[in-house]
Amino acid sequence: MGAEDAKGGSMPRPEILYPFFGDVGSLPGIGPRIKQHFSRFIGDRLLDLLFHFPTGLIDRTKRPKIAEALAGEIVTLNIVVGKHYPSRNRRAPYKVKVYDDSGQMTLVFFNGRESYLKSQLPEGEERLISGKLDKFGNDVQMTHPDYMVSPDQADDLPLLEPVYPLTAGISAKVMIKALKGAKESINPLPNWLDTGLQDKRQWPQWDEALLSVHNPQNLSDVGPLTHARQRLAYDELLANQVALSMIRRAARHKKGAVHKGNGHLSEKYSAGLPYKLTSAQLRTLSEISGDMASDNAMLRLVQGDVGSGKTVVAVMAMLQAVESGAQAAMLAPTEILASQHYDGMVKELEAIGLKVALLTGRIKGKKREQILADLAAGDLDILIGTHAVIQKDVAFQNLGLAVIDEQHRFGVHQRMALADKGRVNPDVLVMTATPIPRTLSLSYYGDMDVSRIDEKPPGRKPIDTRVISNTRLHDVMMGLERTLKKGQRVYWVCPLVEESEALDLAAAEERYVSLQKIYGDQVGLVHGKMKGAEKDAVMERFQQGELTILVATTVIEVGVNVPEATVMVVEHAERFGLAQLHQLRGRVGRGSDASSCVLIRADKLSDTARTRLKTIRETEDGFVIAEEDLKLRGAGEVLGVRQSGLPSFKTADLSVHGELLVVARDDANLIMTQDPDLMSERGKALRVLLYLFERDQAVQLMKSG
Ligand code: ADP
Ligand code: MG
Repeated sequence: MGAEDAKGGSMPRPEILYPFFGDVGSLPGIGPRIKQHFSRFIGDRLLDLLFHFPTGLIDRTKRPKIAEALAGEIVTLNIVVGKHYPSRNRRAPYKVKVYDDSGQMTLVFFNGRESYLKSQLPEGEERLISGKLDKFGNDVQMTHPDYMVSPDQADDLPLLEPVYPLTAGISAKVMIKALKGAKESINPLPNWLDTGLQDKRQWPQWDEALLSVHNPQNLSDVGPLTHARQRLAYDELLANQVALSMIRRAARHKKGAVHKGNGHLSEKYSAGLPYKLTSAQLRTLSEISGDMASDNAMLRLVQGDVGSGKTVVAVMAMLQAVESGAQAAMLAPTEILASQHYDGMVKELEAIGLKVALLTGRIKGKKREQILADLAAGDLDILIGTHAVIQKDVAFQNLGLAVIDEQHRFGVHQRMALADKGRVNPDVLVMTATPIPRTLSLSYYGDMDVSRIDEKPPGRKPIDTRVISNTRLHDVMMGLERTLKKGQRVYWVCPLVEESEALDLAAAEERYVSLQKIYGDQVGLVHGKMKGAEKDAVMERFQQGELTILVATTVIEVGVNVPEATVMVVEHAERFGLAQLHQLRGRVGRGSDASSCVLIRADKLSDTARTRLKTIRETEDGFVIAEEDLKLRGAGEVLGVRQSGLPSFKTADLSVHGELLVVARDDANLIMTQDPDLMSERGKALRVLLYLFERDQAVQLMKSG
């Protein structure tokens, strides 16, 4: 079960948290319009404000006399207001002379309104002003002071002023004022931390942590690695991990059938394999086998880079199900992939006596009826297919294992729909080629057990990866001749234009035409705007060799296998993310011929783009690339927060707090074994924590489960 499935009516929030969930609009000086800006920017509850952390600090503690003040410094001065000199024309500034017992200086205002300035700075009165000093010749000036207050309002002038990220409609003054109000809502809360951990890390209490984050005393108090910020990050990660543990525990409680197997099929099958399984494949298989043999339903994810050999692992798992008297199904996201799986395994499986069928949207009428009848009667052992497999009228006699390939293309709901087709909860095996850094997989796949195939079969030829300047684009186009002469094929991927599919398409079409001029009809084009069947048709022609150059936007199907394709050209490679480049490069190097990847880059590169291209040139290890990607982009972006359903964190940033996630996971596991119903003192505090970070669906689950 995915975290997003664990919905339920919300329990009332603990009363002690009410102040934190108060409305930004209730703060003095925050009207409906500013509230709207807050809503859009960070949220409209006080907690959202309190989780909006400063990124800098302005120090106004220097309080010299005018005569001692240095140009360029931010200072706070005690002055007496002198004469006003309103501007004589539009361009000239409004000036006000001010002085103390050491000397005098000038305050400068552009577009200053006389009535306003006279009321703020009445002649002869004392004022506290703060801002940056300039010197023009002998004249000391301060242009638009940040603060001008009378001595009895000195409290309104923060000598240490945190600097917050801002947005249109929210000025620094408004932000600081809002936070001043929000800080009043900070209450102590029962402590959910393990005190041993807290002492060791010198983490402050919850309320102290929040207060100190917003009251930095010097620059070293600002930033994600302070004790206070680490504690707050940990709080959120702990909430995340406890919630996931609870969900996982509820899922574990699902009884499944025991699929022990007896090895008679898998032994025959592996004896026929032309290679030995890698140790990563063997390890993964034994993890799967153990899950299947237990009476709990398996929910396991296999992560393995393109070409790491996930398919054979899936087949062995399906054989274990069949040996146990059950049926197995394998779901792929596209027709092409499903047929590819079917074609790749049907002969060997039939050879050991199994009945295997393919079911896709294209299979209709009598043929489909026959498959459904065989499936329901138990005459089919293995069904391979697309979404067609999860249609209502498809019924298994006894589905024991569902394998889902390239899981990120399927939603959790489809995963559930397939699992629902079992008489009891079938075992579920999910496979993905998207390497996800270990730190992220903990928070993302926390509800699944994870196996990693982190080793490729031996003997793979490295892919020669080059980065080439776009001034040589024409040479690259002409150079394809040699590849084609050898009977090999070429992918040509066109620039990604941000946020516009139409522009993507224009670029790809243009390249298609120019390549056609050189190479004629053997050039094909696929893009995201094409219908599934249309796309499949072009891909198939490329697979068959009728087309030898395939121009594409980034739609090249994940997992498509064309061993004859040996060259991958990517235009404007600097616009692609690391994970994308890695996926694209994975399309070649699947046959026995040496392959290459040509990354064409623009003249001007940002530092990150340069680092990306360097990384991709230097390694082919998807996990290394994923870790690097995380460093360069931060967690939300790696997965695309919205598509992935990855929880977006408020106080934690996995690119700097990754280490804490591992600690939180272990902490959560311990909690779940010692106090699974959260009844102890700490357990009760943890419930508050779950509400605080809105992971309270997990609490519902515990109640009902
Ligand atoms: P993916 O993980 O991308 O789905 P596949 O399962 O399609 O990878 O495997 C890629 C290729 O590697 C296939 O041709 C498969 O037969 C081969 N292969 C799988 N395991 C091994 C192994 N242990 N040794 C050699 N080749 C292997
Ligand atoms: Mg695969």
